[in-house]
Amino acid sequence: MARVFTSALEAPFGDSGPCWWFLFRDGQLLVTKDEQGTTVPQARTPTDLGLRVAAPHYLGALDGCGCFTAELDADAPLPNSAGLEPLRALYGQLNDDLFAVAGRAVQIVDWDRTHRYCGRCGTETEPMPGERAKRCPSCGLIVYPRLSPAVIVLVTRGDEVLLARSPHFPGQMYSVLAGFVEPGESLEEAVAREIGEETGIAVKEIAYFGSQPWPYPNSLMIGFTAAYAGGDLVIDEREIADAGWYRRDALPDIPGRPSIARRLLDWWIEQGTPD
Ligand SMILES: [Zn+2]
Repeated sequence: MARVFTSALEAPFGDSGPCWWFLFRDGQLLVTKDEQGTTVPQARTPTDLGLRVAAPHYLGALDGCGCFTAELDADAPLPNSAGLEPLRALYGQLNDDLFAVAGRAVQIVDWDRTHRYCGRCGTETEPMPGERAKRCPSCGLIVYPRLSPAVIVLVTRGDEVLLARSPHFPGQMYSVLAGFVEPGESLEEAVAREIGEETGIAVKEIAYFGSQPWPYPNSLMIGFTAAYAGGDLVIDEREIADAGWYRRDALPDIPGRPSIARRLLDWWIEQGTPD
């Protein structure tokens, strides 16, 4: 059964039991490995693990056990049983609940590191009491952890789906189309613009599907389904290498879990070919 994560800003007073420590260096997570598998270290303090860290952030509790995150000192030696790994590579190795908390953690550490100084006047920022925010003591600017929303869209035409291949994709993988939301746009407008720009086609019946945090480094993927409304496929070669309409029985390589792209495609595959 999935464990329950409760987000909070401060550790409950008097709690002195072992906590989960999500420690990062250059965006890589410190994990320990043994016969049981890969996990995140548990300790009362990083000192108990023989580690030095900058000011830790409390994230909340996972089934009542506190979760902290912090940046590791740049050149401090790591414990023998521990190593650093990119978060994405840990999907499937790390327990799903810990993986989800690690996705929160990496974004808080990254935000902390990149907002030490005010972006408006350059003064050193200060933590804002009672909020996950920083404030500039000189000009009053307040900065919250930043999310970059992106839409990801499954477009269908009859019993075919639109798939495209980015030049950055590994191997011969094809996926549904995705792109960042621009300032001032609704999500539906972003869907129509992104599909239009990248493939030249128009879409209709844009409907919300679901969402997924995508902390690489700070996206939120918002999934939609849409139907073909007109136009010929004309790909934007700066963005995609190839695109086409595919039937369920002739799909190319598609993304694996944990991506929302795969959830969208699995959902469509389960619909079956209409009679
Ligand atoms: Zn300022």
